Parts: sequence; structure tokens; C-alpha cells
Amino acid sequence: MIQISINTTRRSQMIDITAPVREAVKKAGLEDGLCLVFVPHTTAGITINENADPDVAADMQAVLSRLVPAQAGYAHTEGNADAHVKASLLGSSVAVPVENGDLALGTWQGIFFCEFDGPRRRKAWVGGVKR
Ligand code: ZN
Repeated sequence: MIQISINTTRRSQMIDITAPVREAVKKAGLEDGLCLVFVPHTTAGITINENADPDVAADMQAVLSRLVPAQAGYAHTEGNADAHVKASLLGSSVAVPVENGDLALGTWQGIFFCEFDGPRRRKAWVGGVKR
């Protein structure tokens, strides 16, 4: 597995990590197969969505905050219960097909590391399975 380091600067933030994931796939020499990106955190998640218009990521965070308010009588009193719920709604991994040594993403797709309890120093693991 190859580690990607991510420094988040806000409490809620979606960071496009497509370029470093693409780099990791090349570094690993994976030609054809499946790339797995895993986030080992409980208040951050990962998703794939449009990375052409930054308003899409802004809308995603706004909708998640409406669905999961910061304060809602949570049992977990650490102050980040909403971040735990948002992380699970998005999930902790994505799998992307790899063809000819590159990610086979759709034209408008990007891989986003999603912070919900930042700012923090974070990481993601990139691994691959050969076809
Ligand atoms: Zn917590």
C-alpha cells in the first residue's frame, strides 16, 4: 500500500486527491486491475463525484450538514458525532478500475478525501489488485 498524506485546513472540507492516487497507481506499476483507496479515520470519508465545478463539493457538504446537524442530542459527547455519521454515510473506501496504467474514471469524476472534523493531518492508503 502507498500512503498519501493530506493536511486539511477546515472542519468540513472535500479535497480532490485524484492526482496523488493516479501517481500512486503509476508508482505501484499497476497496469490493469483495480485500485482501492482506503481512509483509516472515523471522522473522514471518501467519495467519487464531479471535480470540474467546485460548487458540487460545496453542495455535497451543505446537504450533509442539513442531513446531519452539528448538534442533535447525540450520545457521543466528544463534539464530533456529526462527523462520525457523515464519514459512515460516505464510506471509508472507493475502488476504481485501472486500464493501461491509469485510473479509468469518468470524464467529470474525481476522488475526494472528505474531512468532517478538521483541521487535521490525515492519510489515505492506495493499493491495487492486478487483473
Ligand atoms: Zn468522536
